[in-house]
Amino acid sequence: MASKKESKKYSHLQLKKQSVWEQTSPAEHKKIFSFNEDYKTFLKHAKTERLTVSYLVAQLKKNGFTLFSNQKSKTGDKLFLVFKEKVVFAWIVGKQKEQMVLIGSHSDSPRLDLKPLPLVEDSSMALFKTHYYGGIKKYHWVNTPLSLHGVVYTKAGKEITISLGEKDNEPVFIIPDLLPHLARQQYEKKVSNFIEGEQMMVVVGGIPIKDDDLQEKIKIAILEKLNKQYGVVEEDFVSAELSFVPQAQPKDVGFDASIIGAYGHDDGVCVYTSLQALLDCEKPNSTAVALFIDKEEIGSDGDTGAQSYVLRYFAEKYLTSINSKLSVDMFLSQANSLSADVTSGLNPNYKDAQDPTNVSLLGHGVSLEKYGGGGGKYSTNDASAKYMSFIRQILLTEKIMWQTGENGRVDLGGGGTIAKYFSRYGMSCVDIGPCVLGMHSPYELVSKADVYEAYRCYKAFFTKA
Ligand code: MN
Ligand code: MN
Repeated sequence: MASKKESKKYSHLQLKKQSVWEQTSPAEHKKIFSFNEDYKTFLKHAKTERLTVSYLVAQLKKNGFTLFSNQKSKTGDKLFLVFKEKVVFAWIVGKQKEQMVLIGSHSDSPRLDLKPLPLVEDSSMALFKTHYYGGIKKYHWVNTPLSLHGVVYTKAGKEITISLGEKDNEPVFIIPDLLPHLARQQYEKKVSNFIEGEQMMVVVGGIPIKDDDLQEKIKIAILEKLNKQYGVVEEDFVSAELSFVPQAQPKDVGFDASIIGAYGHDDGVCVYTSLQALLDCEKPNSTAVALFIDKEEIGSDGDTGAQSYVLRYFAEKYLTSINSKLSVDMFLSQANSLSADVTSGLNPNYKDAQDPTNVSLLGHGVSLEKYGGGGGKYSTNDASAKYMSFIRQILLTEKIMWQTGENGRVDLGGGGTIAKYFSRYGMSCVDIGPCVLGMHSPYELVSKADVYEAYRCYKAFFTKA
């Protein structure tokens, strides 16, 4: 066996994998815990992209950011703009006004959206039919309390906001699963269709209206209730965006409370930490921009997704505001960016899904991933070695605790992020964020240490990149 002295001789050669908790003092642990208390409050209020936008706007205003309305701007100005109620850009004009450092995160999470005509009556109950949004394992979502959030537009075009199920005195909604006693045939099915999409009907009522001549008395009773409370009729659901999300509130997990269990860490954790990083960023050298984008979970399509040209829209407005002659394309191609998104951590129950020497571990700091995507490096921007080196320098000089890895085993699957859409503009981009266990489930896990290191990483990037 090598002596202690001998092993020290070689210690500089090998990458040391160490937990953040081991490398930090009790005083720093306290800081980590207190930072995460506010993160939990954010999670409670930001379960959908719309709710996230209202949270962001409130926080930005509170912290001295002004709504951008095409005014001229100068170094040090703190501004934000909201695009179509779903996308938020927040920025601090830097000393080098024509150079941008950009951190993008996404505000949407997997959930159950209502169908265009959702309300039906069946088996003496009123039900809402749903169409799931994003990649979910459907069996996670049955027999778990759900809350309902979103908007409906009436025939007259009036916007009605609905938010129900979060408060103690409010009802929740449930998809009833089949009892095990009668599940013998269901057990024979593949897990992928163990529960079919059409079986994701949510119970929303059970009292019929008193009228012998009417059909569908429970459905009508619910419509009457909705009309009384919100002024909506059945046809109004056509112009609605209503989603069921897990009602469960964020909680500490474990005897040492080192982990947070919650819905929407993907990507709420990066939304929150990049927002805090911007709020705490003082006098950035380049213009520091935080972008909070929508529709990542369904492939970044749509007018509020990262595949739209919303970044060009922002760039044009911003360049005009600083009287720059630089073209939008030139400005974007010169930017340095981070795709702030989560990755999967090593799950002790499913170790076969990951490469043990190339995987992130809970509590080992923020995860820097050169590429995401799937087998054969499809659907990823695959950051260059030079940009990896640039980011690594920042992490090292700022003493950010970080790790690296892949999403999972090479041939098992994978997932994309917005990184590849940022890189379309020719800008440098890489994925970096905390690792998560149980990703896309109603109750994901993240280490408080990794949340804090993500915040420190984004703050360092805004200031130093
Ligand atoms: Mn994500
Ligand atoms: Mn996701």
